[in-house]
Amino acid sequence: MPACHCGHSPRPSISVVAPCYNEALCLEEFYSRMRKSLLDCGAADYEIVLVNDGSRDATWEIIAGIAARDPQVIGVDLSRNHGHQLAVTAGLAVCRGESVLLIDADLQDPPELLGKMLEVLEQGSDVVYGQRARRDGETWLKKMEAKAFYRFLNAMTEAPIPLDTGDFRLMRRRVVEVLKAMPERHRFIRGMVSWVGFTQTPVLYNRDPRYAGETKYTLRKMIAFATDAITGFSIRPLRFASYGGAAFSCLGFALLLYVFASYFFGYVVPGWASILGVLLVLGSCQLLVLGMAGEYIGRIYMQVKGRPLFIIRRIVGPAELQESAST
Ligand code: UDP
Ligand code: MG
Repeated sequence: MPACHCGHSPRPSISVVAPCYNEALCLEEFYSRMRKSLLDCGAADYEIVLVNDGSRDATWEIIAGIAARDPQVIGVDLSRNHGHQLAVTAGLAVCRGESVLLIDADLQDPPELLGKMLEVLEQGSDVVYGQRARRDGETWLKKMEAKAFYRFLNAMTEAPIPLDTGDFRLMRRRVVEVLKAMPERHRFIRGMVSWVGFTQTPVLYNRDPRYAGETKYTLRKMIAFATDAITGFSIRPLRFASYGGAAFSCLGFALLLYVFASYFFGYVVPGWASILGVLLVLGSCQLLVLGMAGEYIGRIYMQVKGRPLFIIRRIVGPAELQESAST
């Protein structure tokens, strides 16, 4: 990195941000493939930010070791597990590059795609996102989940979120600055990037199997993630209450008409079974709608508290970053 007269080092041309949660087995391989790809692209002034998201294995020791060997690697150690999206957010806050590559540390996103992404970026895009053409080494269930998830999400949300797209993307600094200024706590980063706008271009790639270890996204986490995505980008579920209410009142009205008509024609409808049925359906609909409203209220509450999005325990790497972390 060339020195500059203001005392601060200038921005690296590219920052790589990788969240790491129990990725001890992947990290060395990730680092060497990522570094090689950066050098192949002529980005010798790169910066790699590895965020340890409260791992319980040797992830942090390995990150610290890599950072000790390579002064262009910055290790960020979070105080505990904050979750994938907040780990990425911490990395975005720390990185300084003119453009920023978000990539998983498990080598499911091939670091070698950087060259192609840079090419497209230079043709005038602000965001180049990897779109999955094929997913190897994932279970049939996981693929189905992912497919259903993206289709459902698009049906539910107002901001168009590109199909089959993860967080693997290259962004210009101006996009990163907008993201940093978005204070929302329940983050769905791929949706937020899409919401920012500017010029966004997909690059197709084949998603590889994990290099080692296993996925941290269990079905439960996927559902929580999907709920964050939907509530973060749409208030459509809240409207279901009104639509459902309207539909059921029409139904109830029709039913009443039927009962009255039968009465005048001398036939009394025996009641308790149908009453119980209607009661159960309506009761459960009310609970469902209440729960949905609760999802939003809970999020408002968490957001209003205004707690910091992430807490950094320590940073290893350039001295100026360590100073800013301690303030
Ligand atoms: N990750 C993280 N914190 C978490 C869960 C995951 O930083 O709480 C990281 C993980 O180390 C990986 C990336 O987020 O680099 C994607 O996670 P994973 O590979 O488990 O998800 P999948 O690719 O299976 O959807
Ligand atoms: Mg993965």
